[in-house]
Amino acid sequence: MAATIARLLSRGGLRPAQTLIKYRVPIRKLNLLEYQSKVLLENHGVTIQKFRILDSREEAAAKSKELNAEEYVVKAQILAGGRGKGHFDSGFKGGVHLTKDPEEVAYFVEQMVGHKLITKQTPKDGIPVGKVMVAQSVDIMRETYFCILMDRDHNGPVLIASPDGGMDIEEVAAKTPERLMTLPIDIHEGITQEIAHKVADFLQFKGAQQGDCAKEIQNIWKMFLNVDATQIEINPLIETLQGQVVAVDAKIQFDDNAKFRQKEVFDMEDATESDPREVDAASFNLNYIGMDGNIGCLVNGAGLAMATMDIIQLHGGSPANFLDVGGGVQENQVYEAFRIITSDKNVKALLVNVFGGIVDCATIANGIVNASRNLNLNVPLVVRLEGNNVEAGKRILLESGLPVQSAEDLDEAAKKAITSLSG
Ligand code: GDP
Ligand code: MG
Repeated sequence: MAATIARLLSRGGLRPAQTLIKYRVPIRKLNLLEYQSKVLLENHGVTIQKFRILDSREEAAAKSKELNAEEYVVKAQILAGGRGKGHFDSGFKGGVHLTKDPEEVAYFVEQMVGHKLITKQTPKDGIPVGKVMVAQSVDIMRETYFCILMDRDHNGPVLIASPDGGMDIEEVAAKTPERLMTLPIDIHEGITQEIAHKVADFLQFKGAQQGDCAKEIQNIWKMFLNVDATQIEINPLIETLQGQVVAVDAKIQFDDNAKFRQKEVFDMEDATESDPREVDAASFNLNYIGMDGNIGCLVNGAGLAMATMDIIQLHGGSPANFLDVGGGVQENQVYEAFRIITSDKNVKALLVNVFGGIVDCATIANGIVNASRNLNLNVPLVVRLEGNNVEAGKRILLESGLPVQSAEDLDEAAKKAITSLSG
C-alpha cells in the first residue's frame, strides 16, 4: 500500500492524487540541479556547454577563464525553472546572465549566492541560491522544446516536442497546439532512427543537423532508460549560429522505486532545498510531509493518513502534517515520529490513528509511552488504536498513567483532537 502511494507521489508531477492536491501537499521526489542533470546528459553523449560550478566570487574569474570562452552564461542553480525571467529578493533581476568579462562573472555570482531567487515556479519567497554555473555561452539561432516522460494516459513513455522552445510549453499547447507533437513510444521498440528523424524534422532541423538532432534524441532516450527517469525535459534544445544542436537547460525526474539500482544518481541529491523535517523523517523510513495546520498526525498507511487528514478537516480542524509510519513500524520509529511532529511549534494537539494489521498495537503503545515521557510532551494526545493486539495496547496506555485520550473510532478521535485545542 505505502509503496503504491509512494509511486503515485513520485509520479505526481503529472497527476497527483486528488487528496494531495486538495491539501497542497508538496510532492517529495528526487530532483537534481541543472548542472547535475547535465553531467548525466554528457555521460550519455548529449551535447551540453562546458561549465564550472562556483559558490562565491573568489575564483569566479579564474575558473571562468578555464572555459576559454568568448562569452559566458552565468546561471543560478535552484530546483525550479523560469530563472531567466526571475528576480532576487535583493531586487537584482534575472537568474541567467550573459557577459564577455570574467570579472563580471564574479559580480553576477556575488549578486546570486546567498540570495533568494523568485520565479514563476518557486514558492513566493523564492529559493536561496548556493551554487552558480558559469558556462561557455552559445550563439542561439533557434530554441526548440523536447521532452520524454512517463505518462499514465498512455501507459508508457511519451515524447513531446515543439519548434517553439524556451517559453512556457503550456502556452504553446493552449495557443498553437499544431506546433506541439505528442508521440507515444513503445518501450520495447524505443526511439528508432526513423522516429528520431521524424521528430528532428518536426523541430525544423534540416540537412546534416537533422541527423545530429536525431542522434541527440536517441541518446536522451538511452539515458531515460538507463537512469530510470520519469521525465527528461530539455527546454531549450537549441540550434546555434554555427549549426550545432545543444541541450541548454535540463530538468529530470526519477522513479523513486528504482533507488536501489540507481545509487549514484540518488546520492547526488542536494537536500539543502528540502524541508529538513522531511529529510530527517526519511532517514528513519518515515514518510513525513509538513503542512500548515495545528493537529499533528501519526498514522500507519498512506491511505489511512489521507483519510485521517480528510476527517480532521471535515470536523473543522486542520492537519499539521501527513505522516505515514508504514506497515512494519518499530517502537523507535514511533519515538522519532513524535520527535519530528512535536518539533513543529504550530502543533497544538497530537492524533495517533493506527490500524494494527501487521503492526502490533502494543508496539505502538510502548512507543507512545516512551515518547511522551522522554520528549516531555506538553500538547493533548488523542489515540485511536484498532486491530492486532489492541487490548494489550490500550492496557499499556492506561497503566502508563499518562493523560492520553482514547477514541474508539476515527470520527471520535478527530473530534477529540479538535476539542482539545481549546482546552
Ligand atoms: P530557465 O529560465 O530557468 O528556463 O533557464 P534556461 O537555462 O532555459 O535559460 C533561459 C533562457 O536564457 C534560454 O531560453 C535562452 O534564451 C537564454 N540562454 C541560456 N543559456 C544561454 C546561452 O548560453 N547563450 C545565450 N545567448 N542565451 C542563453
Ligand atoms: Mg529553461
